[in-house]
Amino acid sequence: MVFQIFLALLFALAGAPFVAASEAFFLARDGAPPASVILLPGSGAPAEDAARDLRRVLGIMSGRAPEIADAPQREPAVVVGLASEWARATGEEGPAARLANAASESFLLLSSAKRLLVLGKDAAGVSHGVYTLLHDLGCRWFFLGRDWEVIPKKSEIEVRADRVEGPAFRVRRLNCGASQGGASRALFEEWSRRNRLGSAYGKTGIHHAYANFVPESLFKEHPEYFAWVSADGKSPGNKQNGLQPCTTHPEVVKRFTEGALSILRGRRERDPDPPLLLSVSPNDNTGNLCRCERCRAVGSYTDCALLLANQVAEAIRGEFPRTLVGFMAYGRVSPAPSAGREADPNVIVSMATAYTWNTHPLEMQLQWPKFVRHLIVREYYSIGQWGGARPDYEGPAIADLSQTLKRWRAQGLEGVEAEMNHFWGSCGARFWAAARFLWMPDLPREEVSDDFYTNCWGTAAVPMRRYFERWESGQPASARVMGLAFQDLADAARLAADPAVRRRVDLLTLYLHGFHLQEQTAKIAEECRRMKLSEEETQRRLEPWCEEGNQLLYRGKDAYLVAISPKAYRMTRPHPPFTPAEAENLRARDLDFYRKAVGGALVEVGGAPVSMDLMPPRARERAAPSATSASPEFLLGKTSYLMRLKANEELTMSLEKPREIEAPASIRTPKEARGEGEDLLESARGERLGRIIVWSLGSEGRDRDFLAFHSVTSENAARPIRFVAPREGLYQFDVASGAREKSVIFRVVGPPSRSMFADLKNHQNISPLEIRPPARAKGARRAPSPTTLYFYVPKGTTRFALQLRRFKNAPVDFTLSARGGQVIHEERATRDSEWIIPVPTERSDAVWKLWIGTDQISRVGLDGVPPCVAVDPSDLLVPRAATAAP
Ligand SMILES: [Zn+2]
Repeated sequence: MVFQIFLALLFALAGAPFVAASEAFFLARDGAPPASVILLPGSGAPAEDAARDLRRVLGIMSGRAPEIADAPQREPAVVVGLASEWARATGEEGPAARLANAASESFLLLSSAKRLLVLGKDAAGVSHGVYTLLHDLGCRWFFLGRDWEVIPKKSEIEVRADRVEGPAFRVRRLNCGASQGGASRALFEEWSRRNRLGSAYGKTGIHHAYANFVPESLFKEHPEYFAWVSADGKSPGNKQNGLQPCTTHPEVVKRFTEGALSILRGRRERDPDPPLLLSVSPNDNTGNLCRCERCRAVGSYTDCALLLANQVAEAIRGEFPRTLVGFMAYGRVSPAPSAGREADPNVIVSMATAYTWNTHPLEMQLQWPKFVRHLIVREYYSIGQWGGARPDYEGPAIADLSQTLKRWRAQGLEGVEAEMNHFWGSCGARFWAAARFLWMPDLPREEVSDDFYTNCWGTAAVPMRRYFERWESGQPASARVMGLAFQDLADAARLAADPAVRRRVDLLTLYLHGFHLQEQTAKIAEECRRMKLSEEETQRRLEPWCEEGNQLLYRGKDAYLVAISPKAYRMTRPHPPFTPAEAENLRARDLDFYRKAVGGALVEVGGAPVSMDLMPPRARERAAPSATSASPEFLLGKTSYLMRLKANEELTMSLEKPREIEAPASIRTPKEARGEGEDLLESARGERLGRIIVWSLGSEGRDRDFLAFHSVTSENAARPIRFVAPREGLYQFDVASGAREKSVIFRVVGPPSRSMFADLKNHQNISPLEIRPPARAKGARRAPSPTTLYFYVPKGTTRFALQLRRFKNAPVDFTLSARGGQVIHEERATRDSEWIIPVPTERSDAVWKLWIGTDQISRVGLDGVPPCVAVDPSDLLVPRAATAAP
């Protein structure tokens, strides 16, 4: 009898949960009042926020906002809340049971004729359930703010669902750096919630934290608590500066173990959620960590820092058994610990992908799992100092995100914390795609891209896809590419049927115009410097640009399109709203500006995918090697060496000693980074200076399997690196270091030079090679020697682009010639520019030669031809199709 009553109650309250196929539930239907939204009491703040948003969105969708009620009996209704609260209110344990073994932050969506259950395993799960439902109904929050919200209007809203879902990664955090002030924090948190970011370990991330336990202010009174700093990281520390504690000093250890307990107790009192994560990670500037006798006896920098993290984990275990201790593998504590050590089971390590000392991110991802149970990656999605505001920013593109997140998931890593700033104008599409892949890394990349173009841009999807994909392909922001981008925006504005889409096109116009002003201002300032003009004259020339730039930057900032510190600019008057007419005018003006700058039509080159099934070219293409050609230097990390090897073929490589180069102002030099990435600059004998990473690309160049690391030491010039190919196929050699890779150069010397390719993005025809003049002893004078590069122009190519950036503005002669040696284009470059080279029909499907009269150049780029060049024509690899007999 009791059982029958229970069953009856269950059916009465929960609809019909035992039906095999899910029934349709109507959130709205013509003529009927909309379904109520029932918020189960006690489900937590995220659930309340989500229920409120659900009500608002359903109101916009259907034209009638539903009521929010808290009586679970009401019908028809969407029930939002914790599965445990549903069980308490109705006695129905089914949903909670279905979620019992699901991951944290999971939810159940279950429809029946009378009810739609959106029940979370926990409060975050409730929120993710609501936004998954809205996502399924076509709602999107692409960038920050109301302008980027997409809510389709429907008079009938039908849902069929019966599924438990949760995130693939436990940690999905975008850490927004510099705050924009005002509402930005709340808006960003809202965007993160709606895009299902979060962490199973709560609100806190893994960060620099030693100062929370031993503040620098103690230095005066207790210098013995602080690190003895070693300049080279190997000799005993001999000076103190108070920036890092000595982590083996017994009093310091006590401050950490006791401090951890008191911090956690405080958080337990203030916050209803249990504290699940506490960072015990070195402060920034890890070059200042301790190398006192006691610390050196413990082991490496990592060994010392990990020992402290373990000690804290041990100390808190009794009272906080579920709390993990966060440790950032970054700077000097990047390398995995010494053999025989291990992390406490409650330590979670976040492996940085930049500023990694004496190791490489890939090596860290292979080594650290041997020592620690919980691992995540610390990524860098958009960093201002690295050019995050630029449309051609080199941070991870959508294709990279899809690839790496899939790989990290397969490796069992628990997630990603990514640093970013409010650069939505340049990187917004990447942030949004990252959130999608962090939830579900197996989503096909095309599906995510199509979603963005279709739902964000509607009838303007075609030009907007062109706009974004051109930047994603790696083409630099040359005058031509800027012109094409404004052309796309103009096309998009014309095609935008929906005013909301038109507004988004206008906002991107505002962003791109702001970037245009910034570039032009920098150019003028540079020119004034070169002409040694007075400060006043410089100001006078900059004035009109700054006046407009100031206002636009501010308006771009307020729309979260660019991140600038509120301190950087002082607004003297309020800035007016950005109007459609103004956007129209800017597009026309800028398009005109760039048309004039390129002196003709804006033509598209490159971007066509190429086959990576690369072979040596036909015998008749193989010109004799040129004896005089000097091997140029390719920037580390930008260029890979590509070789087709037979099984058991042996390869030897010598490397010239690396040297520091003058870093552009926008890149922090290792010295400024105060000890985070200078490993390659310490050339003590035998020290590992960097890595050659060997990948097997398979016989058709489609795979990318990691094969081996070769350590590069200062002795490699004497002891060449040997590699034996395990099987016939294409191999890729990346020369890389843990330093910011742009700041150091390697030069491969001695035969074979083989093919090279640079910055391969999606196998597109883009090769922004960065070439630097060879090293010179200080003060030595040397006549520049010419540079010769060979590359392949595929059949049917009608034109390609050549970009040259000269070294110290000296004029540079160059010629381009095809098979047979006839010169096709000859010029003296007196400015840094791009040349569009027309290809006569009979000169395509051939190896071309680029001869530059000097090695005093800082950049050569080729857009529109396959991304391989060779110093020696016999080393060039070309797509297999091109090697077939004609
Ligand atoms: Zn010490």
